Amino acid sequence: MKLKKLADKLRAIGVNNVKVKEPLSMHSSWKIGGPSDILVEVADVSSLQRLLAFAKEYDIPLIVIGKGSNILFSDEGLRGIVAKFGKAFANVKIDGANIIADAGVWVPLLVKLAASRGIAGIEHAAGIPGTLGGLIYMNGGSLQQSIGDTTKRIWALDENGKVVEMTRKECEFSYRSSVFQRKNLIILRAHLEGSLDEPNNIRRRAIDILAERKHKFPLKQPNCGSVFTNNPEIYKAAGPPGKIIEEAGLKGLRIGGLMVSPVHANFIVNVGGGTSKDAFELVAKIRDIVYKRIGYWLECEVRYVTPEGDIAPLHKFI
Ligand SMILES: Cc1cc2nc3c(=O)[nH]c(=O)nc-3n(C[C@H](O)[C@H](O)[C@H](O)COP(=O)(O)OP(=O)(O)OC[C@H]3O[C@@H](n4cnc5c(N)ncnc54)[C@H](O)[C@@H]3O)c2cc1C
Repeated sequence: MKLKKLADKLRAIGVNNVKVKEPLSMHSSWKIGGPSDILVEVADVSSLQRLLAFAKEYDIPLIVIGKGSNILFSDEGLRGIVAKFGKAFANVKIDGANIIADAGVWVPLLVKLAASRGIAGIEHAAGIPGTLGGLIYMNGGSLQQSIGDTTKRIWALDENGKVVEMTRKECEFSYRSSVFQRKNLIILRAHLEGSLDEPNNIRRRAIDILAERKHKFPLKQPNCGSVFTNNPEIYKAAGPPGKIIEEAGLKGLRIGGLMVSPVHANFIVNVGGGTSKDAFELVAKIRDIVYKRIGYWLECEVRYVTPEGDIAPLHKFI
C-alpha cells in the first residue's frame, strides 16, 4: 500500500498526528536515523488501540518510542510505524506521596514537579532526558537507584490491545531491566510512590545531581547516554565501562561522524554526520579491543531498531 494511502486510512479510523516518511534522526538524541514510513504521536489510549489493531490487520511492524534518548535507528529508517509518546500523552496527578503519570511525561519535568510537591524518591532521575515510559522500560535511574524502586503499578496495553494493570512484582524490575524488554507491552501510565520530604531538601539533592552530570557527561554533543551497561560481573573484575574504555586508550577514537567522548569514555558523541554504520563499526571496535584486554564482552545499554522493527541491545546485532 502507498504510504499516503496508509496515512489516510489511519486518519479515517481516527488516528491523528500522522506523519509520512518522518526522519528518525529528529526523534533520536544521537541524531541518527533514516525515515520511518509512518510516525504517529500518541494522543489517547483508544486511538493507540486502533493503531495497534490496524498494524496487526495489515501486518505492519509497529514500534514504540519516547524521546529516543536510548535508541539507535538504522540509516535506512523503519519500514513500519513508530508510535511516539510525548507531550500529547503526559498528564500527571498527585495525591500525597503518590504520583499517577502518563508514559509521555518528560522525566526532568516530573522530577521538578515531584520536588515542588515535596515527593522524594525520584530525584535520582534528574537530568535523564527521556519519557517516563522509556525510563520504566529501561528501569533507568542513577546513583544505584532505579525508577522501579518507587513504581507501585503500571497500566499497559497488551498485544491484543487490552489495558492491563500490573503490580511492581509483575514488572520484574532488576538492574536496567524490566518485563517490558521481554514482552510485547506498551506502557501507558505509572503509579509511583515516593516519600514526603521538604521541597527544598529534594531540590537541593536534584541540583547536586544535575551539577555532577554537567561536569561528568558530554551534554553539548548529540549522544545516547551510556552506550554500555554496567554489568556487575565485569564491574567486579575491571570496573565500570567508562574506566575500562578509557584505560584501553580509546577516548577520542573516531569512525566517520562518531567519536568516543574525550569527556566520558562510555559516551559516543556525534561530531557531525554520524550514521548507524559508524555506530556499528565503532561499538564493534571498542568491544573487540576491550575483549582482548580483559576477556569480557561489553554489552550495550543502547537499543538498536532494525528497519524491520526488531529492537534489542545494539551488541546483539554485531
Ligand atoms: C545525555 C544522556 C544521559 C543519560 N543518562 C541516563 C542515566 O543517568 N540513567 C539512565 O538510566 N539512562 C540515562 N540515559 C538514557 C535514556 O535517557 C534513558 O534510558 C531513558 O529512560 C530513555 O527514555 P526515552 O523516552 O528516551 O526512551 P526511548 O529511547 O525512546 O526508548 C527506549 C526503549 O524504551 C522503549 N519504550 C519507550 N517508551 C515506551 C513505552 N511507553 N512502552 C513500551 N516501551 C517503550 C522503546 O521501544 C525502546 O526500546 C541518558 C541518555 C542521554 C542522552
